[in-house]
Amino acid sequence: MAEGPGFVGIRFCQECNNMLYPKEDKENKVLLYACRNCDYRQLADSPCIYVNKIMHEVDEITNIVTDVVGDPTLPRSEDHPCPKCRHREAVFFQSDTVKAQSEMRLYYVCTKPNCHHRWTE
Ligand SMILES: [Zn+2]
Ligand SMILES: [Zn+2]
Repeated sequence: MAEGPGFVGIRFCQECNNMLYPKEDKENKVLLYACRNCDYRQLADSPCIYVNKIMHEVDEITNIVTDVVGDPTLPRSEDHPCPKCRHREAVFFQSDTVKAQSEMRLYYVCTKPNCHHRWTE
């Protein structure tokens, strides 16, 4: 059963399609969804982890110096228009943090002088 976006919070067992119930794993202090019919269980997507991830991404983006648009060694893309001003050209690069490299994430900076909007994929 695919989870539709309208059914967040209600999950079904991938093994037997019964409804999963939230269950606290006291040993590991995590929230699980567990099936009452079989042994299937899955980790709940914790909203806290989600928020942390967003915060982290925002941090990395604000740490990007907009000077990179003047760096002639960096590649430019015309396939990733700026989400803010729709300018066609952006400089792109990989962040040099270990975490960002492990995700192979690309960062973009709009080359329009009065914009320099920064974003990531
Ligand atoms: Zn089950
Ligand atoms: Zn822009």
